[in-house]
Amino acid sequence: MKIAVIGAGAAGLAALRHCISGTYGDQVVCYEKTDQIGGTWVYREQTGFDRYGLPIHTSMYKSLRANLPKEVMGYPDFQIPEGSVSYPTRTQILDFLNIYCDHFKLRPYIRLLHHVELVEPVAGDRKWSVKVKDLQNDAVAIESFDAVMVCNGHYFEPMIPNIPGQNIFTGKQIHSHDYRVPDFFNGKKVVVMGAGPSGMDLALEISKNANRVILSHHLTETIDTVFPENVVQKDDVVELTEREAVFADGTKEQVDVVFYCTGYKYSFPFLAESCGVRVDSNMVTHLWKHLVSIESPTLALIGLPFYVCAFSMFDLQVRFVLRHWHGERQFPAQADMLRSEAEEAARRAERGLQKRHFHMMGPEQEHYYSDLANVAGIMPLLPVLSKLHNESSMRFLKDLVHFREDRYKIIDDYNFVQLSR
Ligand code: FAD
Repeated sequence: MKIAVIGAGAAGLAALRHCISGTYGDQVVCYEKTDQIGGTWVYREQTGFDRYGLPIHTSMYKSLRANLPKEVMGYPDFQIPEGSVSYPTRTQILDFLNIYCDHFKLRPYIRLLHHVELVEPVAGDRKWSVKVKDLQNDAVAIESFDAVMVCNGHYFEPMIPNIPGQNIFTGKQIHSHDYRVPDFFNGKKVVVMGAGPSGMDLALEISKNANRVILSHHLTETIDTVFPENVVQKDDVVELTEREAVFADGTKEQVDVVFYCTGYKYSFPFLAESCGVRVDSNMVTHLWKHLVSIESPTLALIGLPFYVCAFSMFDLQVRFVLRHWHGERQFPAQADMLRSEAEEAARRAERGLQKRHFHMMGPEQEHYYSDLANVAGIMPLLPVLSKLHNESSMRFLKDLVHFREDRYKIIDDYNFVQLSR
């Protein structure tokens, strides 16, 4: 098969590694729009647009250390070496991805500074047309492929809630996508919106510089972690005035900065409508197993689920897809795939989850991984991975300041629904 891989982050590298392995010997091209591999893990001071006029992809900030232990962060057959620190820094993860890339000799297949502008099915031909711009030469080419793996990540398109008064607020408003270093917050009163992993991590980080940090969220209970004294928790912000944030409990505070840690939107700007993939309230549809386009199964979207053991899951998803593309397993009938997607959506809705939680795994990840492995008849992921992941997430919530230290026991009753609200 001739396969296009879009993106050379952790997912694209896993895709490439299996596509070129002796098993199938596929012909493959990986397009990467930036000048290096690593995706999210490449730190860039710059925000806004790059020199080619494209939006900066990475949301990485300078001080970031992984919020998962290294045992969870590797690939199934390529681990982060023993002896490395438990919670690697962003630089160590990027180094690891480069080592992975060299170990599996992936570089010759990667075309850096190649921006995929359009992917569309070729009518009546079972092929995909991929329009790519070589950014250095400003030259556009169209290539034809049998299949496409989309590995463009989902932490680059900020999700900013609509709040009355945003247009009259005279302070600064910034999304975590554009956050790099805390200096910007020196002496400021900041309202941090959102208490997901980024909101919590960043509230803590900027508290060293800011005068006061208000962590605003709609979790049903106050987050049970010890924050520094200048961090307080409040309800959602429901309105902004010229200088103030108004909270759901009716209180108001004067603030200098609104810091949106409100997550990201799934976005596939290069997929033509005829690809049959839509994003509906941040649920990507219609997909079989969060992964394969039901309308055109030779299109796969790697890496959509979140709260997962990311690199291992990418590897598993890629192996799953390749088994099907190469006919070792058959795709179910379209109607059955659609039914399976609808049933999962209904099950999640019954549990009070919104559409935007459709790809959230957390406690369900082990089931998801074993299902993929069973259906495709491929090597499963070790169940201990999911256990470690869930336990680490619990640690993170329990003690944000010290969770990277080794002084916790496994806690089983972690509730991801609570976290995501
Ligand atoms: P990305 O890393 O985003 O890579 C996508 C690549 O596609 C990029 O290189 C991009 O340039 C390229 N691309 C996009 N569009 C195009 C196009 N049109 N043409 C060509 N190329 C294109 N995960 C963890 O497991 N542990 C953590 O501690 C952790 N911390 C995180 C902290 C932050 C601040 C963020 C933002 C994410 C964090 N993650 C963490 C999640 C992380 O994103 C994943 O682990 C993983 O790196 C995602 O890999 P990816 O390949 O799917 O996407």
